Amino acid sequence: MKYIGAHVSAAGGVENTIARARAIGANAFALFTKNQRQWQAAPLTQQSIDAFKQSCEQHGFLPAQILPHDSYLINLGHPEPEGLAKSRDAFLDEMQRCQQLGLCYLNFHPGSHLNKVPEAVSLKLVSESINWTLEQTQGVTAVIENTAGQGSNLGWSFEHLAAIIDGVEDKSRIGVCLDTCHAFAAGYDLRTREGCEQVFAEFERVVGFRYLKGMHINGAKCTFGSRVDRHHSLRDGNLGEAVFHVVMTDPRFDRIPLILETIDESIWADEIAWLRSLASV
Ligand SMILES: [Zn+2]
Ligand SMILES: [Zn+2]
Repeated sequence: MKYIGAHVSAAGGVENTIARARAIGANAFALFTKNQRQWQAAPLTQQSIDAFKQSCEQHGFLPAQILPHDSYLINLGHPEPEGLAKSRDAFLDEMQRCQQLGLCYLNFHPGSHLNKVPEAVSLKLVSESINWTLEQTQGVTAVIENTAGQGSNLGWSFEHLAAIIDGVEDKSRIGVCLDTCHAFAAGYDLRTREGCEQVFAEFERVVGFRYLKGMHINGAKCTFGSRVDRHHSLRDGNLGEAVFHVVMTDPRFDRIPLILETIDESIWADEIAWLRSLASV
């Protein structure tokens, strides 16, 4: 069973996301539970929480089919105490919002060392930030996303992901989301079936598929190994189609949210239908 969807808008309230997912033929989706470009947000109202849960039930969405994404401002590896504290507070708020909505995942970008401390120091701060947050929440798994490695962003290599997981105390509540565009930009060659096999074998060896909780299914406008984060539609750009065939037919990618963050939302319904057609052959 493949859970396929897209990152849909939460405009007007989180409870509106489910109908938007249904409208494009999705049986998975991602959302922001608050404005992703602002630090502060009003708490979720009980009315909104109830409506979200009711809509999920009505349309048959389980928590494991939903992959919320945190704010882009948060840096859990921030090298300075003030920035780190602010990020941790905001991340805790995001985890609490997911918990209130009855969700089981929160997808986040690990953070940046900002060229002020060595990578290893910042990676350790990310693990400590996760520990601090998990201690104060229940039932929500922190899902680290691999990044393109733009600027001083951490998390572009599988070794970074493994180092963060290694520092997390509760291994039952830490996971990984692999973004196909980010992996390609970071130098993981997913352009052919053979390339995919090698990359996913490396992922198994360094991180482990038991930690894989979701995928971002994106084409790439950026070039291979460029460390630049530019998504494209699935069938355009430089990544090619091989990786989508692999993900749709390999059972290691079953029953986790497979989320489009492609650039043209007017064709999301077509892209989802196309992915489903690959899964059925
Ligand atoms: Zn992301
Ligand atoms: Zn992504």
